[in-house]
Amino acid sequence: MPKKSELKNIRVRIAPSPTGAAHIGTARTALFNYLFAKQNKGKFILRIEDTDKERSEQRWTDEIIEELKWLGIAWDEGPDVNGNFGPYKQSQRLEIYQQYLNKLFAEGKAYYCFCTEDELEAKRQEQMSRGLAPKYDGKCAHLSKEVIEKNLAEKKPSIIRFRVENKKVKFHDLIRQDVEFDAGLLGDIVIAKNLDTPLFHFAVVVDDFEMQISHIIRGEEHLSNTPRQILLQEALEFNQPIYAHLPLMLNMDRSKMSKRQGDVAISDYHRNGYLPEALINFMVLLGWNPGTEKEIFSLSQLAKEFEIEKVQKAGAVFNIQRLDFLNGFYIREKPIEKLTELCAPYLKEAGLLMAGQVSENKLQKIIEVSRTRMKKLSDIVELSDFFFPDKLNFDKDLLSWQKAGDEATKESLQFSESILSEIKEWEIKNLEEKLFQASEKFNEKMRYPINNKGYMLWPLRAALSGKQSSPSPFEIADILGKEKTLKRISDAIKMLC
Ligand code: GLU
Repeated sequence: MPKKSELKNIRVRIAPSPTGAAHIGTARTALFNYLFAKQNKGKFILRIEDTDKERSEQRWTDEIIEELKWLGIAWDEGPDVNGNFGPYKQSQRLEIYQQYLNKLFAEGKAYYCFCTEDELEAKRQEQMSRGLAPKYDGKCAHLSKEVIEKNLAEKKPSIIRFRVENKKVKFHDLIRQDVEFDAGLLGDIVIAKNLDTPLFHFAVVVDDFEMQISHIIRGEEHLSNTPRQILLQEALEFNQPIYAHLPLMLNMDRSKMSKRQGDVAISDYHRNGYLPEALINFMVLLGWNPGTEKEIFSLSQLAKEFEIEKVQKAGAVFNIQRLDFLNGFYIREKPIEKLTELCAPYLKEAGLLMAGQVSENKLQKIIEVSRTRMKKLSDIVELSDFFFPDKLNFDKDLLSWQKAGDEATKESLQFSESILSEIKEWEIKNLEEKLFQASEKFNEKMRYPINNKGYMLWPLRAALSGKQSSPSPFEIADILGKEKTLKRISDAIKMLC
């Protein structure tokens, strides 16, 4: 195998089928291919595998393109980018497949099969009842030219099969090392429905050759497809690309990730407010680790540090807590102007932020005091909703500190009210200083332990936020302004009367 420094003309690809929402597994495969191309000065190609006419839809192609772009994973050639090896959609390459199908026919390596579905099913059942692995028995493998022509002229339903040799297929995988597979188990495989409708294995093999793909980096679910594809490459006298099969993505209980068990669509993560930086960082660790304690990586760092040989074989557990941790980290790193811009749509959608109601400066302050507790952008709604309405709704019991009771709580709030109404310089440092001083006086007056600030600050904070947890009362008061702050305190006092 050539050493990394010697690798030339690296061309890799992802080849998603647009038959459903763009999958997080596709994004991870795209990322690993992208990084491999970047560090080897190679090319990364997006090819859309839409040969399945019934299930493929343009909207899924659009979504794949949109979400990968959002993640920052850019390709050098693809359906939306010029390249010398296009078209990059399989539905536009049918003539190319036809040429190669004809070549296989001409060399006797492919044949028409006229067996019906019922017939094949009955044979499968019969084989299984004898404890055998089902495979095609070769009934149509040696039909005479006349029979074939007659059947075709009569438009008898048919498919195209490829003659699979009875031999061992061996290949070296960059991740799984040496892999061996007994092709004798396969039987002659179906490679096309007809000359205009190639099936998956055939189209993949032809395209990878035609597009001069040097390395195939894809999910482990394709490992069992590889021997079939190698046999086709051999039959067509194509070079064999180098393979790397990425480990499966597993749920926390180590079951295989599937649509039923949670979010697998990239758009779900996008919509819920995960940042592309966090997802990139998270996805690369689904199978790769740098061999050090380091766990924060930007896309550009990864392009330098990533090594395909360090990708593990064992399944990679999709730990959402780790994603939340990374997302929180990147949220805290964001410049406040940018974070505010990213949060605003969530507040608008929740009906909290109306045009012109809150100044940009105030909004930035709201986001700033909330961001330490945000795991994802959508959390901003729950963390900051109390800043926006004129009047809060909450249970009055929330106001009481250590079961102080309504009377004592009311006194506490009245004390805060009298202090705050005197404050001229409405600014966070000053508010904090004055309220701390006042808290000691209040505790002295009420004979509470002198340093227990909760007697004064808890009812105040609860009155201003209506929440069990929130930023400090100084931060909230600073943002609300004097008038709103005093109004909320008096509303709370009324609740206690
Ligand atoms: N079209 C296949 C898929 O969507 C990928 C084929 C490949 O990577 O070889 O799973």
